[in-house]
Amino acid sequence: MMLGFLLARADVDVVVLEKHADFLRDFRGDTIHPSTLELMYELGMLEEFLKRPHQEVRELAGQIGKDVVKIADFTHLPTQCKFVASMPQWDFLNFIVEQGRRYPRFQVKMQAEATDLIEQDGRIVGVSAKTPDGVMEIRASLTIGADGRHSVLRERAGLEVMDLGAPMDVLWMRISRRPSDPGQSLGHVEAGKMLVMINREDYWQCGFIIPKGGMDEIRKRGIEQFREEIAALQPFLRDRVSELRDWNDVSLLTVKVDRLQQWSRPGLLCIGDAAHAMSPVGGVGINLAIQDAVAAANVLAAKLAAGGLREQDLHAVQRRREFPTRATQRLQILMQNRVIRRVLASAQPLTVPWPLKLMDRSPFLRRIPARLIGMGFRPEHVR
Ligand SMILES: Cc1cc2nc3c(=O)[nH]c(=O)nc-3n(C[C@H](O)[C@H](O)[C@H](O)COP(=O)(O)OP(=O)(O)OC[C@H]3O[C@@H](n4cnc5c(N)ncnc54)[C@H](O)[C@@H]3O)c2cc1C
Repeated sequence: MMLGFLLARADVDVVVLEKHADFLRDFRGDTIHPSTLELMYELGMLEEFLKRPHQEVRELAGQIGKDVVKIADFTHLPTQCKFVASMPQWDFLNFIVEQGRRYPRFQVKMQAEATDLIEQDGRIVGVSAKTPDGVMEIRASLTIGADGRHSVLRERAGLEVMDLGAPMDVLWMRISRRPSDPGQSLGHVEAGKMLVMINREDYWQCGFIIPKGGMDEIRKRGIEQFREEIAALQPFLRDRVSELRDWNDVSLLTVKVDRLQQWSRPGLLCIGDAAHAMSPVGGVGINLAIQDAVAAANVLAAKLAAGGLREQDLHAVQRRREFPTRATQRLQILMQNRVIRRVLASAQPLTVPWPLKLMDRSPFLRRIPARLIGMGFRPEHVR
């Protein structure tokens, strides 16, 4: 959506296909980081954007056993917004669509599911898509695969995927929020258990992290036992965990971390999770996908508008984004293996590890994770 917006703004005809009828789905995280807010500022949309309901997270803290530790402090970042905006992704996407309507070349087709690529003489020249009115074909000088971590387009293109592995999945659910609850988003870690809670004003969006493939075991223990585990981690939820009536109220989100060897073929470029599925660690995936969109628009827009796109231009986008992607995934995998895997496997009460103790005591050190999470490696700027 973001790349569609940026290209239409640069006078390129764009059609964005979305397979669902709306964006109201609960599976994609909500964190708009300072790097993305900076892009909104560069596009002159920040003020309007911040009028939408959101929470501003200036510091990240987590609870390990009984100890609360401060982990990141965003208030010193050299950006317009020194906070992470927590906003449901459907609000964010609706905002971009509304902004895109200012440009006559921007078209969004909802309920249009790309099912295959159209290939001619070894070149991708468009897609076929399933719509309520039947199958449609869309021809294009460039097709972008931005269809997420289960990308159909990258699979149809036969692009080689490197699976980098993830030791966990996430159970995703809503529990109502009361005015007397803590205001900030929370993370709580105990031996064998991790719970992340995002404040969405009238409810908590909860993510309960489980070992990969562990859902059957949890189901076997029963929903009552599961409610008890949530209440034990966050006792103020005890009077509300019954809102999880059965397993239909709990979605299983499978976590993947992978990367394409080659992000493009003649006529096709993959970006975002379709090029590199991100772990939820650090809540950076949406922001990285947007950085890809900005880099792609910077490299491709003028060439698309003038009709002179070459295969090397698609390679140039990958070259530009490869280092930030690899570096971020390397950090995510380090956290997955060093922290998450160990916590999920441990049966002994946890103590705060020394690097986190150090971070908790030193406001200066807390600026480092803030920079990595908030701005990432080599942030892009809108041209
Ligand atoms: C449990 C979990 C929690 C996460 N939490 C966060 C977080 O808090 N913050 C963060 O920044 N990142 C988070 N991430 C990572 C983040 O969700 C992804 O990195 C990010 O959504 C990637 O954006 P994208 O646009 O590439 O793909 P997506 O967000 O997956 O968007 C793909 C879009 O394409 C549509 N689509 C799919 N297939 C087709 C098709 N064939 N035809 C037409 N449309 C199609 C989908 O409906 C969707 O709208 C989380 C990931 C997981 C697994």
